[in-house]
Amino acid sequence: MKKEACYQGVETGPIRPPSEAGSLMLRITRNCPWNKCKFCGLYKGKKFSIRSVDHIKQDIEIIRKNIDQITTAMAPGDSVSQDLMPLVKGTTGQKRFAFYSALNWYRGGMASVFLQDANTLIIKPDDLVEILNYLRHQFPEIQRITSYARSHTIARISDADMERFAAAGLNRIHIGMESAADEVLDFVKKGVDKKTHITAGQRVKRAGIELSEYFMPGLGGAEFSKKNALETADAMNQIDPDFIRIRTLAITDSSELAKDVQAGRFIPLNDPDTARELLMFLEGLDGITSAVKSDHILNLFQEVDGQLPADKAAITAPIKKFLAMAPGQQMIYRVGRRAGIFSTLDDLNSPELMAQAEAARKRYGVTVNTVDAFTETIIKQFI
Ligand code: SF4
Repeated sequence: MKKEACYQGVETGPIRPPSEAGSLMLRITRNCPWNKCKFCGLYKGKKFSIRSVDHIKQDIEIIRKNIDQITTAMAPGDSVSQDLMPLVKGTTGQKRFAFYSALNWYRGGMASVFLQDANTLIIKPDDLVEILNYLRHQFPEIQRITSYARSHTIARISDADMERFAAAGLNRIHIGMESAADEVLDFVKKGVDKKTHITAGQRVKRAGIELSEYFMPGLGGAEFSKKNALETADAMNQIDPDFIRIRTLAITDSSELAKDVQAGRFIPLNDPDTARELLMFLEGLDGITSAVKSDHILNLFQEVDGQLPADKAAITAPIKKFLAMAPGQQMIYRVGRRAGIFSTLDDLNSPELMAQAEAARKRYGVTVNTVDAFTETIIKQFI
């Protein structure tokens, strides 16, 4: 793993979880050290590298300087101020980018920081602790520091080091479990098995760090749909993460999985079959206290949301309602949801939104027989 030679200024990576919209993006590594998952094209062709601790500290110092200038220039309570214009006047490139990163964070309340990219915990534990301490020292007001991490990496970190990360202020980790069915993990080249997912998840929890685990309905295709639901629910039950987040599979044309589809090695699920898998997964969750979140645009049901165990019936109710609908009604909901007209099933009760969905259906020429192809095409645009 190569470290960069020259400082290239404040930079950010391509993604963050939806819940980190107001956070400061602090890039610790670039791209993904694994980069083999068949469904993921995010970092394809991009080389992994670790940024030096000194360079990351320079980022933090530049953000500190910009924040100081912003707070001095802005009147208390202002969200936008003409007084800021002199600060950016004449600046270009990196300087301007750093300023707007700081301004975005300032406007977001400066409560949280997200460490990028795909697997920050792969760096040396001492380096991570040093970065966390420096960040907290420069910005004592930070309430939350979050990172993505791979189960494979966390399973190799000692409990003692995880506790050091927690003590230094890392208080939330997002893990893309996607599936805990070994057949699925193997097929999609996730580079981890169910046992490792469980070891890693339990380690994060033991360290007192908040844990978000992602489930990807549809990743087992038709062949492993049931296993994808039941094995993943079983792993979640053994971990009891703070959050279970749903992110439905979408297959881009350039992904390795698309080649498997073309060759007949992978049969993707349509929306109703994915809904059945999701329902099976949720019904398999037992004895845990996780919050279930469906906060990704790829998901058919945004309202699958609540706190286990109390809200289990409410969490599963929309899926059952959808599956009980006639094919024509399911079709219009799918068109409306994928076209960005509907947010929830209740929107079917709005005459105005229904008229928009019907107009979209006509415009795209969608029928009960072609809605699968329509959905497949449109969700590719979301990723
Ligand atoms: S580990 Fe994550 S970022 Fe890396 S290839 Fe897999 S899904 Fe993509």
